[in-house]
Amino acid sequence: MALDHSKLKVFIDFDGTIITRDTGEELFRRYGNKEIIEGIIADINLRTISAREGWSRLFENSADITYEKIDAVAEDMQIRDGFRSFYEFAKANDLELIILSDGFSYYIQKILERENFGDLTFYSNKLSEGPDGKLFAEFPHTDEECLFCANCKRNHIISNSAEDDITMYIGNGSSDTCPVQFVDIIFARDNLLRFCEINRISYNAFDTFYDVENILKTLLAKKRIKKRRQAELKRKHIYSLG
Ligand SMILES: [Mg+2]
Repeated sequence: MALDHSKLKVFIDFDGTIITRDTGEELFRRYGNKEIIEGIIADINLRTISAREGWSRLFENSADITYEKIDAVAEDMQIRDGFRSFYEFAKANDLELIILSDGFSYYIQKILERENFGDLTFYSNKLSEGPDGKLFAEFPHTDEECLFCANCKRNHIISNSAEDDITMYIGNGSSDTCPVQFVDIIFARDNLLRFCEINRISYNAFDTFYDVENILKTLLAKKRIKKRRQAELKRKHIYSLG
């Protein structure tokens, strides 16, 4: 095969992508004031408020969120069909998978370990406990200039890939709309798919990870793994800023 697999870097969203539902949304819907929470979730998805602002408001408008409550929600979360197979495929072919999440490491780690994916690298936000015992959100990976996202996925893509790498992204939601603009191959569903449509960004639609695996195998076989010009220019611009 012409492609050196080590040149292909695969970035994957977690909530709503690797798992079928969104842990954060589920948590606050379950334990918060339903009407207020739905309004905040809609604002986050429409990007009328920043992700950081969104997380803060969700915590403010919910009865005490505890680790136990998060555990209860995390227990109900299920891995999307085909992810096991895709993970094995990636392992067998030396493809690097990196999870980029605008959720929290506490539950991501738990779910990954429970499902025997504990060796996967991920970058996410963190939860901390205040002196009053309340949990609050911490954002260790924000971007200095962009105030929008909590965990800057774009920066992780830039720092985890070299200029001659080919980058691939698999996602579903509003936190994926920025990073997909910087990658070569996109797999999209839900809101992300609509975003790509509206903005004329080429993508591959997927339902399960079997779809992702099959499409990727076809692209590899047909040697259609290549850089996307627009993404390359956008990445170059970021590299030039240092
Ligand atoms: Mg998502």
